[in-house]
Amino acid sequence: MTDLPVVAIVGRPNVGKSTLMNRVLGKRVAIVEEKPGVTRDRKEELAEWAGRSFTLVDTGGWMAGGNQLDQKVSRQSEAAIKSADVVLLVLDATVGLTEEDERVTKLLRRIDTPVLVVANKVDDTSHESLIWELMGLGLGEPISLSALHGRGTGDLLDRIVELFPADPDDAELESGDASSDGPKTTSIALVGRPNVGKSTLFNRLIGEERSVVHDMPGTTRDSVDTVVETEFGNLRFVDTAGMRRKSKIDEDTEYFSMVRALQSVDTADVALLVIDATEGITHQDQRLAERIDGAGCPIIVVLNKWEMLDEEARKEVMYQMGRMLHFLGEAAVLRISALTGRGVHRLLPALADAISQYETRVPTGKLNEMLRRAQQAQPAPHGGRILYGTQGATDPPTFTLFANKDLPSSYLRYIERQIRETFGLPATPVKIRVRRRG
Ligand code: GDP
Ligand code: GDP
Repeated sequence: MTDLPVVAIVGRPNVGKSTLMNRVLGKRVAIVEEKPGVTRDRKEELAEWAGRSFTLVDTGGWMAGGNQLDQKVSRQSEAAIKSADVVLLVLDATVGLTEEDERVTKLLRRIDTPVLVVANKVDDTSHESLIWELMGLGLGEPISLSALHGRGTGDLLDRIVELFPADPDDAELESGDASSDGPKTTSIALVGRPNVGKSTLFNRLIGEERSVVHDMPGTTRDSVDTVVETEFGNLRFVDTAGMRRKSKIDEDTEYFSMVRALQSVDTADVALLVIDATEGITHQDQRLAERIDGAGCPIIVVLNKWEMLDEEARKEVMYQMGRMLHFLGEAAVLRISALTGRGVHRLLPALADAISQYETRVPTGKLNEMLRRAQQAQPAPHGGRILYGTQGATDPPTFTLFANKDLPSSYLRYIERQIRETFGLPATPVKIRVRRRG
């Protein structure tokens, strides 16, 4: 059972760890004593939920600063936490937060393991309000349950299983992508007005790669994609038929190719917006950029035909960039010549970087540490306060902040900047939602 995901249960004595463990294992609750610190040994058991097997480890309490036996227990807990895939921090909602709970929390904030906070002994809904106090830990919204009566334990198990690494057995079923013999294929949309150099760029990009599969059934209807194996993984260029069999472009096809390019953005992981730098940034370029930005995928701006521009023209284009595409923030901007190949080698690393930002997952502990620091440095106006935050989704990174009241957008922009800086997310779209609590 070495490869099974590991779930570590931590918490001070008497909060109900053994009871929870027995509940999860479906055993009848027995041998639980009222005396603190009774469950000393680190117990490991095989458990299963929703078709996933995992190892459940009861870490036997957390008694920092006590006698030698206690210290040994603490070290064991720490080791269990570090090697776990998910940590359950169990708290007793009828008691509220104790100093010991805070000590455990400090450790949990330092590590990257995802943490689920369990507010135990919420035997009926009348206790529900107690859990708001527990949000102050900054480890996310507590899951309230009653280990003794079983209330809420199914929801907890759902949440646990969601956090497991993908099951290798399921990989083939999930991907459904015949071309991906590697781990993952990234979809790229090449977007731009006609004649900016998309086809030239595309042919140069695939010309340099070893393995190219043309005419993959497309991700959008009636389209044809090209898949390329690169050192950055498999890249799927979306809707590329027109780029290889270049035909004369008339008004109609111009319109339709634009419509299709925009559709391809919706299925893409990243978009390359190609701009003809000899014409400067046009309003149509601006509209395309807005559309990509709205689709929520990262964008890389390619200023093509750069070799044609003199010094003054280059300055002018960069000035226009700032004026017309400022809403793209710190998106990567590459100045290249698809015709000569100049600068094209920087494209794949820029793509890989944009994607890794797009897929970033920030550990809840780190996010809340950052939120605390940011609020210390600059508190929200009028007594506003972010109680805690979690990243609900990736692609793009989406953060939910729980606040005591509505926060002004200027303050949210400040928080967004802090998030981008702290977690290295300058070039990906980032979504921030605020929910009111309290
Ligand atoms: P541990 O030391 O953290 O492993 O805690 P135990 O599982 O031994 O539980 C300590 C005490 O809390 C026992 O008396 C349990 O019956 C009680 N307990 C555990 N879960 C619940 C619960 O959900 N509701 C109530 N009311 N009591 C609980
Ligand atoms: P598409 O309609 O966006 O696919 O554009 P094409 O790739 O067909 O290019 C349109 C025209 O621009 C062609 O004549 C290309 O040779 C030319 N072109 C493409 N890239 C460059 C470049 O970097 N520099 C120059 N000077 N011309 C280019």
